Amino acid sequence: MAEATAPLVLVVEDEPAQAELLRINLEREGLRVLHADNGEEALLLASEYRPDLILLDWMLPGLPGVEVCRRLKAGRGRSDIPVIMLTARGEEDDRVRGLDTGADDFVVKPYSPRELMARVRARLRGSRAASVGAVLRYGDLELNGETRKASRAGTPLRLGPIEYQLLAAFMEHPERVWSRELLLDRVWGLNVTVETRTVDVHIGRLRKALARAGAPDPIRTVRGAGYALDLSEKP
Ligand code: CA
Repeated sequence: MAEATAPLVLVVEDEPAQAELLRINLEREGLRVLHADNGEEALLLASEYRPDLILLDWMLPGLPGVEVCRRLKAGRGRSDIPVIMLTARGEEDDRVRGLDTGADDFVVKPYSPRELMARVRARLRGSRAASVGAVLRYGDLELNGETRKASRAGTPLRLGPIEYQLLAAFMEHPERVWSRELLLDRVWGLNVTVETRTVDVHIGRLRKALARAGAPDPIRTVRGAGYALDLSEKP
């Protein structure tokens, strides 16, 4: 079982055996998997769950994969989700068109699961770096995704698991403003009923853990919007 905070991958594949193979391989990597067997459903799931990555089959019944990709990349709030297109051998023209539509990468079927998973990890490194073991730095903060330890100005931080996940999300996207709802999805997981004010409680604990005499508070409260990790502001 993948952790609630593991990166989420949306698999769009109409052939059940292929979809199952992908699920097995992705779960083996510790990732969570959502599945759609047609393009319409894929677009709905992408908007509702904001997956960290989409694996998109080229040949789908109804809406073709290329059109799904175009709409994903044009849609607000989901255009930055990386898309890896899965195409059949010999679709070289399609391959070019696939990239034209904004697909971030493509893999030709039949693919080796090992190679595909390497591409998946490479794409996730951009958006979910801490989850795939990277060391992140921002200002005087450092977070090691492999050892799951964090420090400020070289001094180790004592963080609970929720505070660690909050800091990891912030450090993957410094200066991005996170709504409480997005933080809930990201840190507590999907379909979990937690009140948004719980986020404020844990942000408070994270602030306390990060506090250093004379050093600025790195977490900015953005009124009406949420929170951001931000050391850029000059007093
Ligand atoms: Ca297919």
